[in-house]
Amino acid sequence: MATPLQAIRGMNDVLPDEAEAWLAFEAIVRDCMARHGYRNIRTPLLEHTVLFRRAIGEVTDIVEKEMYTFTDELNGEQLTLRPEATASTVRAAIEHSLTYNGPVRLWYAGPMYRHERPQKGRYRQFHQFGAEALGFAGPDVDAELIVMCAGLWKSLGLEGIRLELNSIGSAEERARYRTELIAYLEKKVEALDADAKRRMHTNPLRVLDSKNPIVQDALKDAPVLMNFLGEASLAHFGGLKKLLTAAGVPFSVNPRLVRGLDYYNLTVFEWITDKLGAQGTVCAGGRYDGLFEQIGGKPTPAVGYAAGIERLVALWQDAGRIPKSKAPHAYLIHQGEGAAEFALLAAQALREAGHAVIQHAGGGSFKSQMKKADNSGALLALIVGEDELRAGELTLKYLRRDRPQARIRRDTLVAAFNAAVDSALKEAG
Ligand code: ATP
Ligand code: MG
Repeated sequence: MATPLQAIRGMNDVLPDEAEAWLAFEAIVRDCMARHGYRNIRTPLLEHTVLFRRAIGEVTDIVEKEMYTFTDELNGEQLTLRPEATASTVRAAIEHSLTYNGPVRLWYAGPMYRHERPQKGRYRQFHQFGAEALGFAGPDVDAELIVMCAGLWKSLGLEGIRLELNSIGSAEERARYRTELIAYLEKKVEALDADAKRRMHTNPLRVLDSKNPIVQDALKDAPVLMNFLGEASLAHFGGLKKLLTAAGVPFSVNPRLVRGLDYYNLTVFEWITDKLGAQGTVCAGGRYDGLFEQIGGKPTPAVGYAAGIERLVALWQDAGRIPKSKAPHAYLIHQGEGAAEFALLAAQALREAGHAVIQHAGGGSFKSQMKKADNSGALLALIVGEDELRAGELTLKYLRRDRPQARIRRDTLVAAFNAAVDSALKEAG
């Protein structure tokens, strides 16, 4: 016998029980996006490597060590499985002139790929949904996106996800800050780890992002980026904070928050929970006014966020807020060749009327079929045996209620079955 194969490490199967929760989750996300006027976009999982190099930045975790990159053996192209979807969304917007007639609001959902060390809440294939508002410059749309997230947590019944906010200013403001930060880091060089030492000169802001507590400790007295912001940046940040306050969305300003991707400016934010251990950031975003130009488009202000579906579904599960999946309405039991055909047509009629019907397959005694009906979770069993077949009827049996079974006529099946489902559901509350 051949050795059984396994999925790739860090890439998970979502099995049916869990997939039901995902479907329910995705339906809530889709509804939320629609209610905010965001339109869906679907971009390929594969892009040219250069897109991510240019968009995300060379000196970032993603580009330095997390990308699944390979050469297409058929034509020699360098390709990468998308590690995130903002770069692709902006690439598509430029390629198809999506902002030609003015700003657009877009959203996406799907798998992303990063070669990280797998652990709880951190996988190599994981899923994000995200929203991108392209062509809007003001803090009003930053607020819109953040308020949308707050509304989504509410729709999901999730509590205790806190918002951290910062402004990282303009490129010029960061350049001035950079010089001061490097001077500070040079004084603290003994406390820095290899990553931090390397980034100190190539991308010192990234050092602020370090997950190493020793490095974080050395940063205690580091200069604060907020103090380097000019009037315009501060006004943008002030405008955002005012709108969030008006909307009743609490936040705390975290001056160390810089985000792990290079393309951000002005607003950056993260939604964090304490309930998932180390992997507590469930959603992150910010403004990226320079990205369009960086990948060859016209200057276009933009802002967006991406949320981790695995982490949010885990939180949803722990909170016990996942809605129960709907039971099938009927399990259709039948025996004998003529009965199979009769049952098939009856099942089709009920499905066309909107009912979920599982038709027994694979034969077996009435008793064993009845057991399967019970295990299926269906509200009702429908039975077709020789007797029923001769009479042109089906036997209807309540599986979740103590009620007498009944015969229903095939030619009035749908109406009788509708009524039976209604009463079974009503009694179930
Ligand atoms: P981290 O600091 O945890 O590595 P990040 O800054 O790399 O996060 P983003 O690129 O901002 O993450 O992605 C947005 C969200 O996507 C994260 O907040 C998280 O919820 C989710 N996410 C990112 N990487 C992973 C992963 N490897 N597995 C599962 N979810 C992830
Ligand atoms: Mg990361």
